[in-house]
Amino acid sequence: MSGILVIGEVVGGSVTSQSLEAVAAARKLASDRGETLSGALFGADLAAAVAQFDASFSALLVLDSPQLGSYLAEPYVAAAELAIKRLNPSVVLLPHGSRTRDWVPQLAARLGAGLVLDCVGVGIKADGVAVTKPMHGGAVLGELFVRGSPAIVTLRGGAFEPALAGGGGNVEHLDMPPMPGAGRIQHLETVATETGTGPRLKDAKVIVSGGRGTGGSENWRFIEEAAAAIGAAVGCSRAIVDMGWLKWNHQVGLSGTIVAPDLYLAVGISGAVQHLAGISNAKTVVAINNDPDAEIFRRADYGVVGDFLEVLPAFTERAKELRK
Ligand SMILES: Cc1cc2nc3c(=O)[nH]c(=O)nc-3n(C[C@H](O)[C@H](O)[C@H](O)COP(=O)(O)OP(=O)(O)OC[C@H]3O[C@@H](n4cnc5c(N)ncnc54)[C@H](O)[C@@H]3O)c2cc1C
Repeated sequence: MSGILVIGEVVGGSVTSQSLEAVAAARKLASDRGETLSGALFGADLAAAVAQFDASFSALLVLDSPQLGSYLAEPYVAAAELAIKRLNPSVVLLPHGSRTRDWVPQLAARLGAGLVLDCVGVGIKADGVAVTKPMHGGAVLGELFVRGSPAIVTLRGGAFEPALAGGGGNVEHLDMPPMPGAGRIQHLETVATETGTGPRLKDAKVIVSGGRGTGGSENWRFIEEAAAAIGAAVGCSRAIVDMGWLKWNHQVGLSGTIVAPDLYLAVGISGAVQHLAGISNAKTVVAINNDPDAEIFRRADYGVVGDFLEVLPAFTERAKELRK
């Protein structure tokens, strides 16, 4: 077995930016190990996605089938098994997300392959693969070694700079393999998530996030106004979701969304380990908190100790002035 295979993810007809991050990691690994780099894409109506995926693959396997249109684990496992048996890679890299968290462990079990989910680093060690993975809510980074082939690794978003999207070289179309026992699970309905207006949290370059320290839902408008003034997405701690002020898709952290913005402004957030796990890849963190000993200040690059009701509206006004 030899070669690095990166399996991209397609959402809404486009290759996700996280898939291009996996390509960057895969390209480096292929170069370090002196092995070839291949790609695979699964989905329905993939023409646009194939054109976006990277051009430097020695082969790009494409399974374009209506069976892969609405997500179900079974056809994805079958498609990936076919691609892996076709290429015999030593390492398979994928973006980490709710879908891959569902189907990739099933794939690994079927192949008897070693698997590590949600890694932030991947490299070589002896003749195997060494990965780095946040553990215990991000409090520590674990170094793990995957023996055997293929080693399957999913990569956390924001851990790598995305590779440039390119024109899809050496494309080979494969037919969906037969799936014995298929149809045990059926897709009945797709319910769209309410995403609201403004940038998506996961891809946002700037995020203004509020916590319990904002005091009451009547004060939430200060967070919204600050976000609007600087073109930021709105995030929150779990406390806000638990109180029903915002929907779960705004929650940042271990059990919410892992984000990787250039700027993360944390307002009235204490900095619990589960929240910090979601911002470990944020480039610059700014915190506003009235407790000088708040844990968030240990992670923050800049901090303001004070009542957010005094600090944030003044910040918003200044941001609006600068934008004029
Ligand atoms: C399994 C598990 C998973 C979890 N997953 C997540 C997760 O994904 N994301 C997450 O966020 N949490 C998560 N949590 C919850 C987490 O442990 C904390 O309870 C939560 O993050 C606290 O939210 P908070 O910082 O908004 O509130 P608090 O901890 O209550 O902090 C409020 C902060 O506001 C400050 N403050 C108060 N008044 C003001 C003011 N006027 N101006 C400025 N600052 C002020 C206070 O000093 C304090 O630091 C999880 C917990 C568990 C057990």
